Order: sequence, then structure tokens, then C-alpha cells
Amino acid sequence: MVFTRDLRVTDNPALAAASEAARVVPLFVLDEAILATARTPVKRLGFLAESLADTDARLRERGGALVIRRGDWVRSVLDCARAAGAGEIHLAADVTSYASRRLAALRDAAAADGLTVLTHPGITAIEPGRIAPPGKPAYQVFTPYYNRWLETPLRAEAADPGTITLPPAIDPGDLAGLADLAGPGLGLAGLGLAGLGLAGLGRDVAGRDVPGGETAGLARLAAWTESKLAGYADHRDDLAADHTSHLSAYLHHGCVSPRSVAALREHRDGAAFARQIAWRDFFHQVLAVRPDASWRDFRPRGDRWNRDQAAFAAWQAGQTGYPVVDAAMRQLAATGYLPGRARMVVASFLTKDLYLDWRLGAAHFAEHLLDADVACNQLNWQWVAGTGTDTSPHRVFNPTTQGQRYDPDGEYIRHWVPELDWLPAGVIHDPDPASRQLSGYPAPLVDHKEAINRYRLIRH
Ligand SMILES: Cc1cc2nc3c(=O)[nH]c(=O)nc-3n(C[C@H](O)[C@H](O)[C@H](O)COP(=O)(O)OP(=O)(O)OC[C@H]3O[C@@H](n4cnc5c(N)ncnc54)[C@H](O)[C@@H]3O)c2cc1C
Repeated sequence: MVFTRDLRVTDNPALAAASEAARVVPLFVLDEAILATARTPVKRLGFLAESLADTDARLRERGGALVIRRGDWVRSVLDCARAAGAGEIHLAADVTSYASRRLAALRDAAAADGLTVLTHPGITAIEPGRIAPPGKPAYQVFTPYYNRWLETPLRAEAADPGTITLPPAIDPGDLAGLADLAGPGLGLAGLGLAGLGLAGLGRDVAGRDVPGGETAGLARLAAWTESKLAGYADHRDDLAADHTSHLSAYLHHGCVSPRSVAALREHRDGAAFARQIAWRDFFHQVLAVRPDASWRDFRPRGDRWNRDQAAFAAWQAGQTGYPVVDAAMRQLAATGYLPGRARMVVASFLTKDLYLDWRLGAAHFAEHLLDADVACNQLNWQWVAGTGTDTSPHRVFNPTTQGQRYDPDGEYIRHWVPELDWLPAGVIHDPDPASRQLSGYPAPLVDHKEAINRYRLIRH
């Protein structure tokens, strides 16, 4: 059984299916190709390392262990399958073009060896393709998708794998050796985690507010459901209250099952929250049929984006002169997390006010987010940029009024833009030139009204 981004033991259909055999190899391969190309942030590697350690611990409770290899993904999987004398390889189906190519290569190579590759659900609550409009492969508009999603039964919870017995020929390796497996500069040493040992992996890493792993993910889901689900609909956009679940990194790495989170749609207070999980499923089923939408406009609008490097650098650094935009960009850099409302505001500022290509913004997010996810990131960026699935593609978020509305006391800004912390709530969202100068805070990079007028002339 090959784990990919389904790093959990409970409700894992691929693991449940593989565990029906007398012996099973629970395998994770650190894919050289990804390590070589992706500019994966240290925080995300830390989250991954913790998730692997937790998966290993949970498998050991059942008599097994997580087998970790590093190398060419297809070759490593096949080598392991051969060494184990396996007849079948089980893994979760995924939607990105890279995942599809990798799976196709595995199928070809496995077939030559007489091995069968079987894919299973588990990455989304409702699998891509399970619901579709008549005669079409996927929904392109959210609301009709959501209506079908609500009435589509969730699959049954996958069986617990029970006792796991590894074939004697397989040495799981010591997870503490992950440092060596991950190689110099990429391993735990490079992550600043060297010397912590396994126990230390569970600890939080500077600036990151969520520890990785199924155990931590399930604990967060339970605690958050108990204390905050009921207020979600009313408070989710409140930037200072930070009322949302922070489950995104757990969902992206599969530490919690999307099916079990979607089951909250049956909870009396769960409707608004479950709708967000439906958005996640929606974007996955769009990407499944349009994998090119991860880099190409889903609905091209003839954009000839600005190429202002300095403006892009100011946006990245949180120095645009719009306090709520800058607070968000600094939070992203410091923590690897950003609330959904803030993501929309900064994405709108980049693509509408600065009229810079959404791909630049998506790449910056992917470099920093703990939850960076091709379907959710690229397709939300396209949604905000107006090249995606949004049915009103010209909507604009005013960065000043968004701040006034969702951070009325200016608390969020004071936390992330401390040079403005002396300003009262009434002016902090739009400081006058003298206050800016006193604070060492920049003038607005563009005038919002003028910028949007320019944008409208281009787009209409
Ligand atoms: C420009 C932009 C980029 C984004 N990039 C990502 C990304 O790389 N990875 C990612 O997981 N989410 C992304 N999102 C979606 C959303 O903002 C985050 O999932 C959410 O803010 C994470 O915080 P949370 O877990 O506290 O969310 P909650 O509000 O508690 O929502 C619960 C879960 O629902 C899902 N969800 C919520 N909103 C959305 C949405 N708009 N689209 C898809 N799924 C959603 C997530 O899995 C989230 O964890 C992006 C949104 C925008 C506007």
C-alpha cells in the first residue's frame, strides 16, 4: 500500500483494501522528482515529517510500521513490491497531471512484472466523476454541484486495517533515519529538526501553528467541532477572531479523512462548514477533467498582465501600503497559513489592483502555504482572477473596506503590521500621509479607484 497524500490509518480505503491480505507493506516514497523541483518550504517539510512519524506510530500500534524509501517513485515502489513478493499495489487516486503521469508509469512498469495496481477513493469526500451533469464529465459551476453533493451519500467509512504484518523480507528502516533518507540539505537536518529525534517531531516548529499527523488532526477536528463549529457561519470571516478550523493542511496531507469532515453536513450546525468542504471537492473534480487549469486559464479572457516586478515584490513583502493586504502577506510568510477571507483580499489586490498574473500569486502561495494544494490553490486563484469558474468574473474586493468590515477594531492589522499599532481603529485601515511617515509605513502602491477603473477598461 503506497501512501501519497492520505497520511492516515483510519478511514483509509487503500490501506483497508491492502490489509485484507495476510501481509502488507505500508510504504511512503520521498519522490526525488518532487524534492528536486518543488520549492517546498521548510515548514511544509516539517509538517510532512511529523505526519510520517505519526503514521508510523499508528501502524506500529497495529503491529506494522511505515516503510520509507527515497528515490525515483515508480522504481522505489516496484523494488519494494518485488522484494515483498506482492501481487497488488494499492494507492489513492489523485487528480493532478503529475499524479496521473506517475500512476500511468507505475501501471505500465507493474504490468510488465505481472503486478496489479488498484486505486481507491480517499483524497476527497466525494470522488471526482461520481457526480456530473448529464452528458458532461464535471460540473463547472459550484451551486448545481453543491446541490448534488448534498444529496449524494458519502461512501461507508473504510474498515480499520486491524493487525498489520509486514513480510519478513522488508526492513521498515528506522524513521529516525529519515534525515539520511531525505538527504543533505533536505532532511531533518536541513529542516532544523536534527537532534530532536522522533519525540521532537511532534513539537511545533517556529511560526507554524499546526503540528502534522493524524493524531493532531483528529484532536483538532474534535476540539474545533466542539467549540467553534456552531459559530462558524457568523465568525469565519472575522480576521482577528481566527474562528476557522485550520484543518486545511491536515486535509491536504490526508491526516484527516475528507469524508469524515464532510459528514459534519449532518450536524445541526454543520451546513456552512460542509459547504467549504464541497468547494474542495468541486475544485478537485474540475481539475480531474482539466488538469491544464493548474497553469492555463480555465476561461481565457485575453489578459495581457502587467509585468511590474517592483509591485510584485512589494506585494510579496507586505509593503503595498494597504494595511489589511500587508498584514495578510506577513502572516503568510511567518506562519504558512492565511484565513480564506485574507486569501481572497490579497489575491484580488494582486490580480485586479496590480493587474499581475494570477500564476505569480499562486506560485508565491505554493511556496509558503502549509496546505498548498494544486486544485484548491490554482483554481481559487483563477476564481479570484476571473479566469476560473466564478460566474461573476469581474468582482473586486476593496482592500480598505474589506479591512474595515472584517477587522473593525484593527486588531489583525496591529498584530501583523506592528508599526501601525498606535493608530486607532477609525484610521488604521487608511492612515493619512503624516501617520504613514511617522510609522515608517509606505504610501499606497496604487490608488484603488484608479487601478480598478484601469482594470475595467482592459477587461470590458
Ligand atoms: C487565492 C486562494 C488560494 C487558496 N489556496 C488554497 C490551498 O492551496 N489549499 C487549500 O486547502 N485551500 C486553499 N484556499 C481555500 C481556503 O482559503 C483555505 O482552504 C482555507 O482558508 C483554509 O483555512 P481553514 O482550514 O481554517 O478553512 P475553513 O474555513 O475552516 O474551511 C474548512 C476546509 O474547507 C476547505 N475550503 C475552505 N474554503 C475553500 C475554498 N475556497 N476552496 C476550496 N476548499 C476550501 C478547506 O479544505 C478547509 O480546510 C485558497 C483560497 C484562495 C482564495
